[in-house]
Amino acid sequence: MKKYLLLLIPFGIFAQNNPNPGYWQQKVDYKMDVSMDVKTYQYKGKQNLVYTNNSPDTLYRVYYHLFNNAFQPNSCMDARIKSIKDPDGRMATKVKVGDKEVKESRIAALKPNEIGFLKISNLKQDGIELKNKVVSTILEVDLAKPLLPHTSTTFSLDFDGQVPIQIRRSGRNNKEGVELSMSQWYPKMAEYDYEGWQADPYIAREFHGVWGNFDVNITIDKNYILGGSGYLQNGNQIGYNYQDTGVIVKLPKKQKTITWHFIAPNVHDFTWAADKNYIHDKLVTNFGTTLHFLYKNNPNIIQNWKNLQPKTAQLMEIYNKTVGKYPYEQYSVIQGGDGGMEYAMCTLILGEGTFDGLLGVTAHEMAHSWFQHILASNEAKNSWMDEGFTTWLENYGLNEIADKKQENPHADSYAGYASLVKSGKEQPQTTHADRYDENRPYSIQAYSKGNIFLTQLEYLIGKENFIKTLKRYYADYKFTHPTPNDIKHTAEKVSGANLDWYLTDWTKTTNTIDYGIKTVEGSGENTKVILERIGRMPMPLDILVTYEDGSQESFYIPQTLMRWTKENQNPGIKRTVLEGWDWAYPTFEFNINKYPVKNITIDPSGFMADVNRENNVFKK
Ligand SMILES: [Zn+2]
Repeated sequence: MKKYLLLLIPFGIFAQNNPNPGYWQQKVDYKMDVSMDVKTYQYKGKQNLVYTNNSPDTLYRVYYHLFNNAFQPNSCMDARIKSIKDPDGRMATKVKVGDKEVKESRIAALKPNEIGFLKISNLKQDGIELKNKVVSTILEVDLAKPLLPHTSTTFSLDFDGQVPIQIRRSGRNNKEGVELSMSQWYPKMAEYDYEGWQADPYIAREFHGVWGNFDVNITIDKNYILGGSGYLQNGNQIGYNYQDTGVIVKLPKKQKTITWHFIAPNVHDFTWAADKNYIHDKLVTNFGTTLHFLYKNNPNIIQNWKNLQPKTAQLMEIYNKTVGKYPYEQYSVIQGGDGGMEYAMCTLILGEGTFDGLLGVTAHEMAHSWFQHILASNEAKNSWMDEGFTTWLENYGLNEIADKKQENPHADSYAGYASLVKSGKEQPQTTHADRYDENRPYSIQAYSKGNIFLTQLEYLIGKENFIKTLKRYYADYKFTHPTPNDIKHTAEKVSGANLDWYLTDWTKTTNTIDYGIKTVEGSGENTKVILERIGRMPMPLDILVTYEDGSQESFYIPQTLMRWTKENQNPGIKRTVLEGWDWAYPTFEFNINKYPVKNITIDPSGFMADVNRENNVFKK
């Protein structure tokens, strides 16, 4: 449709204004024509890719991801499933060996016509054939001519793919019967950024992609319905009322296939799904985004998917208001894949199960539109900025629309983090997502500890500053690749507090927070309190004192590293700001001009992730 073609004109709404001096990012413009054989699940494609080197470096090589190749016996992904202590239950089957239960890689059992593959031929740079080598899921390419800074080159290639039996995310015929979940399905240029090439083999974890525009033609059996990234350009040619144009063409009987033409402007991935039995509903919202829902025509799930639609709109409106406006005209919730996975302008999620499960996954995956798609951190290196911040927005949004609101909707994250610390298996958040010893510690640090980075940031700088930080972070870093320093620096600029110590201790170490009330002694009009710092990580402290008569007073001990004092978050209670506590001192003493006191609590909000809360409370 014409309306969408307009988006190809340089788009103000997609302009990036990353404030870091000299910030640059590479650019890709893909044109792909692909035809899918729905009998063999094999597909053929042609790709034309204009690659712009915005870096200050001359490039002599480039790398492509061939993600499909992971779904083959003996691939890196297979090896990882076999060697990790706690393999993902979706990728391993439980089998009995003697009287022991072991987990076997599902990939190891794939037959040749069930594996995934992506084969490349005819690879050229500006018409010149290129030397290249496939190493598992990575295509290594030597350039025919070096690519100078601030120049573009065109790569062209042909590809032959096979969609694997669904193991993880991408795949065919998943357990809910969705035929084609086409994520990470095409030769995808690896990202080159200020940290160099990011060309990791695919073991089913995180992604990092190049920003650009996708123009994709998909030719497929005419009985299939498609959804995915991008705006459909030819809704009036595909035989049903896809975009409510009111125009439905009758396809000639002998015509076997249709070509679906999508354009996805300014994204870093392109995903689609297809099924013969999709129901396709649309919800036109009053905030400028049309929500699409594609789900199987299965009587057991239809009501859940209908109920999901207004809630999805409510959530998106809350996300818009909390972080910043979703800039695309379309978002699609599609039944497919496994679990749930976020993609540009859409998500593929499992569609069966309870309504709460469906809503929760949708709330999570859609929140990734902000913290993954638009604020595209390198997920592999900083999974906590992707999964953690998404978990924060999901919890916040779900709580806002809940009938019964929780005081702390992030309580599960605190419990998860506490259990990880207790297990002794924590690794720092700077660990590359692929190289955690086990899956569980990875998950908890990414989702729970990453979420707590934000809830605790709110504890540090106060609610108003925190919400302003989220909005400014989005406004400043959208459509780029923000780094950990960027969220920290934004919070510093908004609040005026120094926070480098927080980023360092929380994300680069496994230091924990544990403050305790050591002694409380008093006589006459005076109570002397001695606090101790037991954990390595310093924090500012909010302390609530309740007196015998039930009246309350609060005390605030600034963390000197912050060079800053938080505003009283609870103006209903009188607050005294004490002298700062420098981290080098293991104890801190202060006086209360009243005796006796009934009880004293360090951090009554519970937002500080103190690993031992028992010693936070003194009771007379
Ligand atoms: Zn997620």
